[in-house]
Amino acid sequence: MESVREIKRLRLMAIEAGLDGATKLKRYTLADLRLIFNGIGSDKFPEKIRKLLDKLHPSLMPVALIHDVEWHKSDNSMKKFTESNTRFKKNGYKIAKYRYCFLDPRRYIVMNQARRFGNLCQLFGWSAWTSPCECAICKAKRGKDKKK
Ligand SMILES: [Zn+2]
Repeated sequence: MESVREIKRLRLMAIEAGLDGATKLKRYTLADLRLIFNGIGSDKFPEKIRKLLDKLHPSLMPVALIHDVEWHKSDNSMKKFTESNTRFKKNGYKIAKYRYCFLDPRRYIVMNQARRFGNLCQLFGWSAWTSPCECAICKAKRGKDKKK
């Protein structure tokens, strides 16, 4: 799990880079974001995605943070699902351009990975999107509801 300081850095970067959906991150405390954020390779994502992309480029972490918040808040709709995966790709391009100049090959590496990841989520992520969120906050909440 990332440190609170790291989450703070990622949130700031998302805002500074003008990522789509970055304002959503302000609705959560850093402590909550830390619990929601799994980065990539999270349990929430199907094995296929994890195997195909075992590690997300560090530049994509702020993009993944927004994506994770959206999955945490999933309404199980196809519309929001597609929007979230499209946003991942769009934000990946944005952050790649924000961080690396057009001569820097890393720009294209990050863009490629963002596109692949967004596409993989769209292909294989539906069951994760429509099943209960596995973050610590949601798990704890379900535990409490059971006791009632
Ligand atoms: Zn959750």
